[in-house]
Amino acid sequence: MDIEIELLPESERKDLPSSSNLSFGKHFSDHMFLMGYKADTGWHNARIVPYGNFSLDPASACLHYGQAIFEGLKAYRGKDDKIRLFRAVENMDRLNHSAWRMCMPQVDKDELLQAIKTLIQIEKRWVPGAKGTSLYARPFMIATEAFLGVRPAKEYLLSVILSPVGAYYVEGFNPVKIFVTDKYVRAVSGGVGEAKTAGNYAASLMASEKAKELGFTQVLWLDAAERRYVEEVGTMNIFFFLEDAIVTPELSGSILPGITRDSVLRLARGWGLKVEERPITINEVLEKAKNKALKECFGTGTAAVISPVGALYYKGENYSVNGGKTGDLAQRFFDEITGLQYGEREDAYGWMDII
Ligand SMILES: *Cc1c(COP(=O)(O)O)cnc(C)c1O
Repeated sequence: MDIEIELLPESERKDLPSSSNLSFGKHFSDHMFLMGYKADTGWHNARIVPYGNFSLDPASACLHYGQAIFEGLKAYRGKDDKIRLFRAVENMDRLNHSAWRMCMPQVDKDELLQAIKTLIQIEKRWVPGAKGTSLYARPFMIATEAFLGVRPAKEYLLSVILSPVGAYYVEGFNPVKIFVTDKYVRAVSGGVGEAKTAGNYAASLMASEKAKELGFTQVLWLDAAERRYVEEVGTMNIFFFLEDAIVTPELSGSILPGITRDSVLRLARGWGLKVEERPITINEVLEKAKNKALKECFGTGTAAVISPVGALYYKGENYSVNGGKTGDLAQRFFDEITGLQYGEREDAYGWMDII
């Protein structure tokens, strides 16, 4: 891929936000990557240009019929000052899977990854150095063909923007309180739950707003058909430490296949721990929470890495998990994964990619 590069003059570049003042997705770097697609010519016009507004026809298909997908990955600055990506190839594969599901075009994953690395290289001053901070990369693809009608568009735009981020949760690495909703669902079997597509997040807003109003950090989603099986927590995958096993719902089509989820599973197996990917009912979880057989519960995702759950609220009852404290296992996964990401632990699985 030939990437045309147009750099902003030094004098017009932004001041960096102070690294103590980073939240999530608030600041954006000076440049972005863009590439167009037309059905008859394929991908073309790959370029890195100053960050700025798009010009879109009001009839652009993404604005009406939701052909829009995204990814999220982070670049980490280690103590050795090297910048690393974590399992970025998996993000490229998942982008292509989401594209396939939404009838959008495939991208060459090696070329896109190379483009992301080039962009991060140009923007390296934006990779913060403080512990727990990183530069979040948001690749996304939207349908830009101007027409009204329900069919796959013939034109697309792929872009990558970069945002320096601090810790995801305001509470920091502290257990969160979760509202189990049996009223709303995130995704249905046979639907698009396993695609990182924009509409899934719009669909989730109502439930999470209601949970927040009631003082909870996030929603735990149950399956759409029976409202019995646990699916995910907010925009994270979910894990339980039940008796002697690490249990997570199996990928069923309605669950987003998280890369952090897969990393936790692989690490756990590598450590010789008992791991189960299986359907898990909310009743089993709550029963076991009552008799202390539920030892830990945590969410996994790129944004938070590991987010310990301290309490589950279901049908008017509160179930405390591990006395509301962060468990040893959650801590161990967090330490291992962040240790790898910041280049402080041995990369036995070859997950890290130095830019
Ligand atoms: C992105 C996402 C996850 C986590 O995926 P990671 O690859 O671990 O970041 C989990 N659930 C949903 C709904 C997501 O959008």
